[in-house]
Amino acid sequence: MNSFSEGAALPERICRLPELAYDLWWTLSHRAREVFRQLDYPLWRLTAHNPVQMLRIVPRERLEQAAQDSAFITLYDDAIQRLDAARTAGNTWWSQHFADLSTYSVAYFSAEFALHQSLPIYAGGLGVLAGDLCKEASDLGLPLVGVGFMYPQGYFHQKVTPDGWQVELYERLNWDDAPVERATTPEGHPCAVTIPLGDRLVVASVWRVRLGRVALYLLDTDVPENDPHDRELSARLYAGDHEMRLRQEIILGIGGVRALRSVNVSPAVWHLNEGHVAFVVLERMRELLEQGESFESALGEIRSTTAFTTHTPVSAGHDMFGDHLVERYLERWWGALEGVRPGILALGRHDNGGGPLFNMTALALRTAGCVNAVSQLHRKVTSNMWAPIWHGVTDKNGPLKAVTNGIHVPTWIAPVMAKLFDRYLGPGWWDRHDEPAFWDGIASIPDHDLWAVRQSLRSYLFAFMRERARHSWVRERESLVRVVMAGMMFDPAALTIGFARRFAGYKRADLIFHNPERLARILNAGKCPVQIVFAGKAHPADDIGKGQLQRVYQRAQDPAFGGRIAFLEDYDLHIAHFLVQGCDVWLNNPNKPLEASGTSGMKASINGVIHLSVGDGWWAEGHTGSNGWLIDSGPAADQGSGEDARDADALYHLLETEVVPMFYERDEQGVPRRWVRMVKEAIRTVAPLFSARRMVKQYALEMYAPLMRRHPAAASDQTGVAGKLTP
Ligand SMILES: *Cc1c(COP(=O)(O)O)cnc(C)c1O
Repeated sequence: MNSFSEGAALPERICRLPELAYDLWWTLSHRAREVFRQLDYPLWRLTAHNPVQMLRIVPRERLEQAAQDSAFITLYDDAIQRLDAARTAGNTWWSQHFADLSTYSVAYFSAEFALHQSLPIYAGGLGVLAGDLCKEASDLGLPLVGVGFMYPQGYFHQKVTPDGWQVELYERLNWDDAPVERATTPEGHPCAVTIPLGDRLVVASVWRVRLGRVALYLLDTDVPENDPHDRELSARLYAGDHEMRLRQEIILGIGGVRALRSVNVSPAVWHLNEGHVAFVVLERMRELLEQGESFESALGEIRSTTAFTTHTPVSAGHDMFGDHLVERYLERWWGALEGVRPGILALGRHDNGGGPLFNMTALALRTAGCVNAVSQLHRKVTSNMWAPIWHGVTDKNGPLKAVTNGIHVPTWIAPVMAKLFDRYLGPGWWDRHDEPAFWDGIASIPDHDLWAVRQSLRSYLFAFMRERARHSWVRERESLVRVVMAGMMFDPAALTIGFARRFAGYKRADLIFHNPERLARILNAGKCPVQIVFAGKAHPADDIGKGQLQRVYQRAQDPAFGGRIAFLEDYDLHIAHFLVQGCDVWLNNPNKPLEASGTSGMKASINGVIHLSVGDGWWAEGHTGSNGWLIDSGPAADQGSGEDARDADALYHLLETEVVPMFYERDEQGVPRRWVRMVKEAIRTVAPLFSARRMVKQYALEMYAPLMRRHPAAASDQTGVAGKLTP
C-alpha cells in the first residue's frame, strides 16, 4: 500500500524514485525503465521487473551509491523530468486536435487490464487490449480514466502436472509490491462505494493506479464491512459460476459509476469494453430518471454518450442471464425505477435459440450510440450475428464500425530493436511510428545488423527459459521431464516457432500435431532443425482447452520429436515479451472466423518475428503477400468437417517448402537475405497500421469526438451535469 513511506528513507537526491515506481508510466518509457535496471540489475530480474518490490528490498548501500553515481543521476533526472511532462504537458496530440473538447473526458470500463505483470488483473488478449489502449491514451494526452476490478488473488498461476493436466494456484497479492494506492475523494477521504446486491448492500473500496496522464480506478470488495462471501466477490478474475459472474458484473457496472462520482469524475463518453460492463447503462439510467428525465429521454442521452466495443464471435464470450436472476440481484436497486423495470429488462432481451435471456451484449448494443468490432472481418461477422438487434436501433449507414485492434509499440518493442530504429530511422520514430511512409526508412538498416539483433533476441529468450528451468529445478527439484519440457535441449541457432495465447478450443493449439510423423520429420530434419515453444493458460472451467493443453504437453514429451518442443508454464505479460521478441516465427491457427482480431501476432511482427497464420482476425487485412505467410486451405475450409486436416496440411506444406528453406538459406556472411527482407516487410507494414496509436486515434476521431460534439452539455451548458471534467 503506497504511502511512499519508504521515500523518507531514500537519499534526498533520488527521493522521487517511489513516485516513478508507483506510476506505471515508467513501463512506457525505455529510458525510465533503464533507471531501475541500472539501480540493481540482479534485483530487477529477480522481481520480474517490479520496481515497487525492488525499492522495498534494495540494500540501503546500493541506494547511497546510486545517489553518488553521476551516470545514474543523469538517467534519474531525465526520467523524472519526463514523468512530470507526461503527466502535465499541454501540447499533446489530443489538445492539438481537439482544443474545443478540452474539458471532456472518457471513462473506459473493462473487466480486465493488462498493464504490467506486477498487477495480475488480466487473463488474456482482452486485458492486453485494454492496457495498451490506456497506455496510448496517456501518450496521446487523451483525457481517459479506466474503471475495473482489483482482484486481490488475480488470475491463477498455472502449474502443469507431469501428465499434462493444468492445476490452478491462487496466490494473494502482496499489496506492498503492487503499484496501487487508495483512491481518495476530493475531501481527502478514502474512497468506497456501496452497491445493492440481492437483499443486501455490498461495499467496495476503490484503488487507484497511475499511468502518466491516465488514472485507473479499481473496485475491491475484500473489506471488513462485507460478509465473507461478498469479500470474495472481487477476489479472482473469471472464477466461479454463472451467478458469481452476474454478481461481479453488477458490482463493476453499478459500482464503477458510483466510484467515478465519488472521485468527482464526470465523463462525457462512457466506453464499454465488452458486454461484461454493460450494467453501467442501468446505473446511468437510474441517475437520469432520478433527475426527472423520462425513460425515453434518458435512453436518448445514454445513447448519445455511450461507446461499445464487442470482441468475440464465440457465443460463450457473451454473458446471458435469466430475467429472474437479474431481477433478484437488482431487488434493492430498482427503488424508484419499479415503473420502468419492464422497459429496462427489455433492453437486454435476446433469444439465442434457447428462449429469451438478459444478454449483456444485447444491452450494450441497444444503448450505445457508437459500436465497433475489432477488425474488418469481425465487423462483417458481428453485423450478421446481431442482425436482429441492429434492426430498429440503427441508422441506415450502420453504426457498426471496424476499429482494428493495435498494440502499444513502446511496450512491445524489444529494447535492442528500438535502439536499431533510433540509429537508422532517427529517434523521431517513437513519435511518428503510426505513419506508414515513415517506415520506408527500414530499408536503410543493413541486413547483417538486423539479423544480429534477431539472433540476440532469440538468445535472450533461451537464457530466460534456462533461468526459469534452473529456478524450478533448484527450488522444487522438478523431474527431468519437466526440465526437458522447459526447452533445455533447444538448439540456440535453430528455427524457433512460438505459439502462446489462451488455450481455448477454437485456437487449436494442437493443430500442428495433426500428422505427428510429418511434424517429426520437419522438426528433426538433419541440417535444418525446427523447434516449437508453447505457452498459455486454459480457463479453469474450460475442459476442452485443458484437454488441448494436455495433448500438446504429452506429445511434446514424445522422444520422436527430439526434445524440440517446449512448454513454458504460467504464461503472463512477462513471458509474452520474451516470446514475441525471441522466436523466429509466430504461429496462429484458429478456426476461422472465430478469432475476432488477435494481437500477439502484431507484437511478434514489429519485432521481426514473422507471422504464419490463417487469414482470420487482423491477419485477413494485415497480410500483404510479402510480410509473412498465410495458411490458406481454400474457401471450403472456412467451415465444416475436414477443416483441421486441410489447415494442418497447408501449414506443413508452408513449413516444408517456404519457411524452413528460407530460414536456412544463407549468404557467405551467414545472413539469410530473403528472410531478413521479409522481417523488414513485417516491421514496415505492421508497426504503423497495427499500433495502438493508430487505434486510439481512430477511437478519438470516429467515436469519442463525435459523441462529445453531440453531447447534451455541448449544445447548451445549462444543465451543469455530466460532461465536464472537474477541474
Ligand atoms: C498478447 C497477449 C495475449 C493475446 O494473444 P492472442 O494471440 O491475440 O490471443 C494473451 N495473453 C498475453 C499475456 C498477451 O501478452
